[in-house]
Amino acid sequence: MDGIFNENDISRIVAADKAHIWHHLSQHKPYETSDPRIFVEGRGMRIWDQKGKEHLDAVSGGVWTVNVGYGRERIANAVRDQLIKLNYFAGSAGSIPGARFAERIIQKMPGLTRLYYCNSGSEANEKAFKMIRQIAHKRYGGKKYKILYRDRDYHGTTIGTLSAGGQDERNAQYGPFAPGFVRVPHCLEYRAREQDGAPTENYGQWAADQIEAVILREGPDTVGALCLEPVTAGGGVIPPPQGYWERVQEICRKYDILLHIDEVVCGVGRTGTWFGYQHYGVQPDFVTMAKGVASGYAAIACMVTTEEVFDMFKDDASDPLNYFRDVSTFGGCTAGPVAALENLAIIEEENLLDNTNAMGARLMDNLHDLMERHKVVGDVRGKGLFCGAELVADRTTREPMAEARVAEVVADCMAQGVIIGMTNRSLPGYNNTLCFSPALIATKDDIDTITDAVDGALGRVFG
Ligand code: PMP
Repeated sequence: MDGIFNENDISRIVAADKAHIWHHLSQHKPYETSDPRIFVEGRGMRIWDQKGKEHLDAVSGGVWTVNVGYGRERIANAVRDQLIKLNYFAGSAGSIPGARFAERIIQKMPGLTRLYYCNSGSEANEKAFKMIRQIAHKRYGGKKYKILYRDRDYHGTTIGTLSAGGQDERNAQYGPFAPGFVRVPHCLEYRAREQDGAPTENYGQWAADQIEAVILREGPDTVGALCLEPVTAGGGVIPPPQGYWERVQEICRKYDILLHIDEVVCGVGRTGTWFGYQHYGVQPDFVTMAKGVASGYAAIACMVTTEEVFDMFKDDASDPLNYFRDVSTFGGCTAGPVAALENLAIIEEENLLDNTNAMGARLMDNLHDLMERHKVVGDVRGKGLFCGAELVADRTTREPMAEARVAEVVADCMAQGVIIGMTNRSLPGYNNTLCFSPALIATKDDIDTITDAVDGALGRVFG
């Protein structure tokens, strides 16, 4: 891919970027003396930067998004045709791709029937929060308004979703937050010894019981919903411990609490089932999804709920509480559902769920090997092609590895041409997990290349 740009173009583009772009997730001081990376082209699992350097992308576009890989002409062509036919109409009107995608995805979500379109994971979660609040007003005189969220989970970047944010380092600067959101403890077994009273057996059941304790403290008649990630993503790649979700469902039913599952990362194949919650046999009332829905070929997010919830909003039309007074301007873009339809067809036709399970198992095996070879690897965990390796300064005390050292591993892999991720910055215990979420098309060679790069990096950084 040498010569994608001539030298002149590259320097002009980098100059324009440095003069005008405020990059996401970036502290800009380093750009005074270095250039930002600009990606130019992608094919399958590989992506090329402005210097023509090839990278194997083990994080699906940085934030777990490009599930079917780069350069899918089939999606691009379908989007092109639809945009020429009709790009957009918002408000109360429907669209042909909108109806078709809703029907297709809902077939994969037994018990759920209604889909609401919007354009980011944060927005999808906000829609669910608004419906939950409206249900509290409709059914419980406004009393059952509290929404529980979990330590370490993340639900978005808006003030509303940050109010339900369990990663303190992302929240610290942005208060005050919206009232009515209440935190429950995390369920990371590796860190259980830091939780008062955690048992050595049946941790999953105990961790779920801690949610019940919060409900009882708050008063069950004030708690409307519980919002959880099926496998926590940015908070440390945390699959639930055994028995956790079964107990969570029981607790929700016992106290008449709606279950909102945030599938923004796990949804549409990432963990080897269509949705993460489907590993655990639970029945949610709300599911939100975004990243993998169209693999980043168009901006689309969805909030899906039950007919029971839908019915609550259509009784007597003269009552304003029976009308969900909400819109999403770009929920009217037809590119999203068209791209999502093709994305879904690719996953089915190429058997990518099977591949995700097989390659996910290989990735976990390789990570276990790394744990044997490097004592800084304290824990490895994952589900499907969504895995993490937590680095520690000391295996016995489990003291988290300093963020700067973890970042050195990521940088070493980058220098080798393999892009991996790490959990979010700045608080000890959050920022020490290497993340792997390659596209669902990954081959054995790709998986081995990724873990070989990490092996080399760990050796160089830690000796
Ligand atoms: N929920 C989860 C679990 C996420 O990881 C994210 C994004 N990282 C969001 C919600 C928010 O999605 P968006 O950035 O599209 O608003």
